Amino acid sequence: MAGIYIHIPYCKQACHYCDFHFSTYLRTKPDLVDAICKEIRLQKSYLSGEPIKTIYFGGGTPSLLSSYELEKILNTITENFSVSKNPEVTLEANPDDLSEENLYTFKSRGINRLSIGIQSFNDNFLHLFNRAHTSQMATKAVSKAKNVGFDNISVDLIFGVPNQTLQQFQKDLEKIIALDTQHISIYGLTIEENTTFGKWKKTNKIQPIDEEVAASQFELIMDVLASSGFHQYEISNFSKPGFESQHNSSYWKGEQYLGLGPGAHSFNGNSRQFNIRNNSKYIKAIDDGQIPCNVELLTNNQKLNEYILTKIRTAKGISLKEIKDRFNFDFAGNYTDKISLYKNQGLIELSEYLMLTREGKLVADSITENFIVD
Ligand code: SF4
Repeated sequence: MAGIYIHIPYCKQACHYCDFHFSTYLRTKPDLVDAICKEIRLQKSYLSGEPIKTIYFGGGTPSLLSSYELEKILNTITENFSVSKNPEVTLEANPDDLSEENLYTFKSRGINRLSIGIQSFNDNFLHLFNRAHTSQMATKAVSKAKNVGFDNISVDLIFGVPNQTLQQFQKDLEKIIALDTQHISIYGLTIEENTTFGKWKKTNKIQPIDEEVAASQFELIMDVLASSGFHQYEISNFSKPGFESQHNSSYWKGEQYLGLGPGAHSFNGNSRQFNIRNNSKYIKAIDDGQIPCNVELLTNNQKLNEYILTKIRTAKGISLKEIKDRFNFDFAGNYTDKISLYKNQGLIELSEYLMLTREGKLVADSITENFIVD
């Protein structure tokens, strides 16, 4: 089984924290959709005939696609790949695009999972982020989506915002739980250099949040969501039973996927392929019958490190047997001292699997760094 990711690199306006590939120049959108359809045809052998079980429209802002554009891309996928019977088809959407009319269109075109970017319920923070919606619009978008019949909805929230208090964040958590969706993704804000926030940080216009406050917010997330029936199946992802994102889970399982569009990347088990992050160069190259990408052949150690980096973040953790069978690597034998140190500190548990404890999740990055194989 395999997945397809389609990157729609357009946004109405630039969020101040965003480091993804996108453009606010929307006039090239029809040409880019044509180019994506051509890329689908050019890449039809990439997944070696594996059935497609998940399709994911990410971005950028895929909810800017018209009904015609969405249908065109989906039809081209089904004409060129063998799509399994009931695929999970996700569309990332911003609340300001979710009119009832758009929602009916998305549903009728085959979208069966929405991932709605709410980010905050505090309008001052939404303004600071330069989001194109208010908290009220976000709440209404979720209730409209439910009325239209969407029964698999994920919502995104950001924590660790500069000057955000624990009390303010607690209100966000209460509001997101009250929406009663099936899935919640919550990410800590990172200030990337090439963003507006990155520039503001250099000039001291904003300061990253105190690490202890961010850690308290993350502890609150884990406690409150667990007591509200959500399972933390990955460090940043929480779901009601049976509503884990199949698409993202397949990344974490190391399954193959094809990424289409500028800035998308693909993985076929042996190599990674990165499409150019430039809309006009992408369109031009695809027009000329070329896929503008860099291909990186993965060594055994690179594959092993990717396995460690992704699996350690999941609830199941790192399988010592799988790591031995797939990569011929004796994880416990190579890391005896580090494992006993982390066990004594209460940061990991070890059985057939190595898993982060609740405390370990708070320092996941530094633990992971110490398990990277040279
Ligand atoms: S809408 Fe999403 S992709 Fe676009 S700028 Fe904002 S965060 Fe980035």
